[in-house]
Amino acid sequence: MSSNRKPLVAILSGAGISTDSGIPDYRGPNGLWRRDPEAEKLVTYDHYMADPDIRRRAWLMRRDSETWRAQPNGAHHAVARLERTGVPVRVITQNVDGLHQLAGLPARKVLELHGTARAVVCTGCAARSEMAEALDRVRAGDPDPACRACGGILKSATVMFGQRLDPVVLTDAVAIAKGCEIFIAVGTSLQVQPAASLAGMAARHGARLVIVNADPTPYDDLADEVVREPIGTALPALLDAIVQERGRRVTG
Ligand code: ZN
Repeated sequence: MSSNRKPLVAILSGAGISTDSGIPDYRGPNGLWRRDPEAEKLVTYDHYMADPDIRRRAWLMRRDSETWRAQPNGAHHAVARLERTGVPVRVITQNVDGLHQLAGLPARKVLELHGTARAVVCTGCAARSEMAEALDRVRAGDPDPACRACGGILKSATVMFGQRLDPVVLTDAVAIAKGCEIFIAVGTSLQVQPAASLAGMAARHGARLVIVNADPTPYDDLADEVVREPIGTALPALLDAIVQERGRRVTG
């Protein structure tokens, strides 16, 4: 019975799964932030905390983000569909866009390694609230909205450069990687640690490792299958095959 709780399929998703939704790669090794030192300051914790001007620019960047217009694409929908067929699935995502959940995947099935852009958190009292509400305050003329509870500095509930990943989230991710039967890394260059090492961990613990990415990754040699086709078509096909294979196993 406990085996029902073990994820059969673990999916590690990176920026590449959301590019079809119009969200560029920001934080990857070749992402926009890494190529622009001024932009990188907006998402670096020490700069953000020290400089009100950085915060004002960061709020404008959030206000104008593509994320609010973006819709889930075929790959996000395929993952949500897989979950609805009853296949035990967990998603570990490096993305902060919330598109897996918008596609209908229950939030409890999604581990957000780098947090979420859809919430804000107070750096003083840790209170969380909706990003939409903070952006309403920015639009109404408050250039750097403060925490309503304590007056502290608010930031997006994402993991900024210079911040540690949530240890609870990371522990969960490791357990999923070690316990799954199939580990699919999709749209990630597998170059950002510790997310990348989850792929190696899964393979060492006996999972079938599948990598779906346009470019080579450091884990390709370890993979059972490497898919270079576009994610929007390759991932749905891959997940449909898993459902069919499982159906044969159950009936046969
Ligand atoms: Zn506060």
